[in-house]
Amino acid sequence: MAKRVRLVLLSFFMALSILSCASRPPPAPGVVPEFPVEEEEPLPSIGEPSGLLLAFDDDYEEVWERYFDLLDRYEAKVTFFVQGDYSTFCAAAVKKGHEIGYHTKSHPNLLKVSRQVFFEETLGGAEALRQQGLPLKSFAYPYGFSEPWMEDALEEHFSIRRGFGATCRIYSVPAIKAGYISSKSIDNIQYKSDAAFEADISAMLMMIQSNGGILPLTTHTITAKADWGISPERLEYLLRTAAELGLKFYRYGDFF
Ligand SMILES: [Zn+2]
Repeated sequence: MAKRVRLVLLSFFMALSILSCASRPPPAPGVVPEFPVEEEEPLPSIGEPSGLLLAFDDDYEEVWERYFDLLDRYEAKVTFFVQGDYSTFCAAAVKKGHEIGYHTKSHPNLLKVSRQVFFEETLGGAEALRQQGLPLKSFAYPYGFSEPWMEDALEEHFSIRRGFGATCRIYSVPAIKAGYISSKSIDNIQYKSDAAFEADISAMLMMIQSNGGILPLTTHTITAKADWGISPERLEYLLRTAAELGLKFYRYGDFF
């Protein structure tokens, strides 16, 4: 009986956490929270399959290319939200099975530019890459900032638009198909230690493995030195843990 009550409570709290993983307190460094993956009854699912949307933003193309082999090792397909103009990196990434999304020409805060500049930075910049044969289904707002009118302006040009922040959200496939999602930052600046990073990643990945749903995670360069980037060791921890849990890596465009 007690176990039944505990299961109901756990189900309730896990359903809440689908809305926002960050609504619960962060686990203490080095402590991996327990999740009821071995309970006898299955937990409610928000939709199969479960997996990750891993993205890298900005213009770290030379660095990213050096880690293609690491991504290959774990069969991880990711989305690179590039800024600026077309480069040979785009072709190399697509050849590897990754997706190229767009992240504006020069990474302005779109809340602070004129409408003319907004369109030059988004649709104008994307046009140059599209002429090179890239479909650019996906768009990431610089700093994650957007307003409703921007969504109206971009929705017919990009199948999915992406915001960005510290909050973890897990999405059902229909919610992704609605066209706008927000991704959690897993940059070095978000975690005081490797142990804190590993605890948070484990908790999030175990949650989607047991409960279903798609988890968007975003970082930038790949180095231990940058605030807005991920160390190679942390990236490999994420890739290895996802592989061990049997989670699939999706590209943003896979849902469209
Ligand atoms: Zn950016």
